[in-house]
Amino acid sequence: MKRREVLKVASLALLSTLTSGYGAANSSDYAQAKNKDSAANRNKNPKVVVVGGGWAGLALAKHVKIFAPQSEVILVEKRDHFVSCPMSNEWLVGLVDLEFLTHSYIDAAQNNHYTYMNASAIDVDKERNILVTSRGEIAYDHLVFAVGIEYDYFSMAKDDRVLEQRLRNEYPAAFIPGSEHITLKHKIQNFKGGNFILTVPEGNYRCLAAPYERACLIADYFKHHGIDGKVILMDESNHIRIKDKGFSSAFKELYKERIVYMPSAKILEFDLDKKTVKTDFDEITFEDASFYPNVKAPYILEKLHMTKKTPFNRIEADIDQYTYKVKGTDNIYVCGDARPMGFSKSGNTAFSEGVNVAQMIADEIHGKIPVWTSPATTCFSLLSTKPEREISLYTEYKYTKKGGMDFKNNMTDEAWKTNGLGEAKVAYSWAESMYKNMFA
Ligand SMILES: Cc1cc2nc3c(=O)[nH]c(=O)nc-3n(C[C@H](O)[C@H](O)[C@H](O)COP(=O)(O)OP(=O)(O)OC[C@H]3O[C@@H](n4cnc5c(N)ncnc54)[C@H](O)[C@@H]3O)c2cc1C
Repeated sequence: MKRREVLKVASLALLSTLTSGYGAANSSDYAQAKNKDSAANRNKNPKVVVVGGGWAGLALAKHVKIFAPQSEVILVEKRDHFVSCPMSNEWLVGLVDLEFLTHSYIDAAQNNHYTYMNASAIDVDKERNILVTSRGEIAYDHLVFAVGIEYDYFSMAKDDRVLEQRLRNEYPAAFIPGSEHITLKHKIQNFKGGNFILTVPEGNYRCLAAPYERACLIADYFKHHGIDGKVILMDESNHIRIKDKGFSSAFKELYKERIVYMPSAKILEFDLDKKTVKTDFDEITFEDASFYPNVKAPYILEKLHMTKKTPFNRIEADIDQYTYKVKGTDNIYVCGDARPMGFSKSGNTAFSEGVNVAQMIADEIHGKIPVWTSPATTCFSLLSTKPEREISLYTEYKYTKKGGMDFKNNMTDEAWKTNGLGEAKVAYSWAESMYKNMFA
């Protein structure tokens, strides 16, 4: 690695109080700082650097400070504020405002005694234990990548770059927060009628329930706004992937005229000028659409040679499933949606995993042997707005003797006609409590 100017802490007063070794003036100062960093010193004030302020990273940063208060924790996040994906389907149809979803990284860091650095991680020097960011270098003792997902347009666009760009810009998936969600909301609000296509990828994509929930809420919006539109839900899988009873009964009983559910409907050809898509069996015309491709680990992990190929998602983090450590390293971890394990790629799962990995890092800091604990998945899906109806799921996980993943303690409540979850607004209180957990 070239000598670089590293971050000047003088401009970041807060950092200087919390992070020795974070802002030495140049890389030779760093070398000296590291030489002084004897094992004893490291154990006294270990530096834990977390890349990614999503559900996993926020939980992790907060809980390392709780479990090992002597550590210096720095959260490196490229966004300057947090916008929640959970409850964004509700935002798309006007049930919550943007303020409900939006939160301050500064609040999270101040309230939970760690440092927030608004920067992108771009490289790692594993020899010197240094993370390179867009704003300078940071020394670490433990480094965690909680960087979420990226879209994988390879199979959807078959490596056609022009098609890929058109799909991204003209029909965004809206499964990563930002402009895509705003564009999708405008599409729904301005829809004049006809077919509105949504797709469900195969494999373990982000939030298994969200495409089915989104179909219900968009159909509900069309119904209540007098829009003569149909949601065509094209599922690459041959069945509804989660809460099947609840979603399929809602499709049949609430949205018979509004949702066309198509299982085993992988799109093989797009003609975006004629607005048609083809599967093995059908050709469907559409007025508007949001195409959700499969997901993969973000490119930074690929660039750092921390990924492996897996059957559906193609590229995922290459970690030990019990320790979360990147293979071949002893102090670099990956958790949250970027993990390769078959756990649900969901916010509650990522949050609870962030807490678990924080505990494992704290155990290492305290010289104890870390023990794997299952993350927990809780997921509420809204089916309709007037009245509000909801279904839910809870599960934990276990590993089989051969290391395969299995479910544990799983429960679903799909009796939306009688369960009163919607009336009690359980999804909203879950989200509020999670935001409080991460930011207050
Ligand atoms: C429409 C929708 C509805 C959903 N509903 C639910 C729900 O009801 N319940 C539920 O539990 N889950 C739900 N989810 C899923 C949930 O949003 C994700 O599973 C969760 O966000 C994963 O958390 P994460 O921390 O792994 O990743 P993310 O939340 O994506 O966080 C990753 C962070 O890393 C940052 N980052 C990436 N690369 C870098 C870099 N190089 N440098 C610095 N920062 C970087 C990103 O900016 C991002 O902030 C939903 C998702 C969607 C899209």
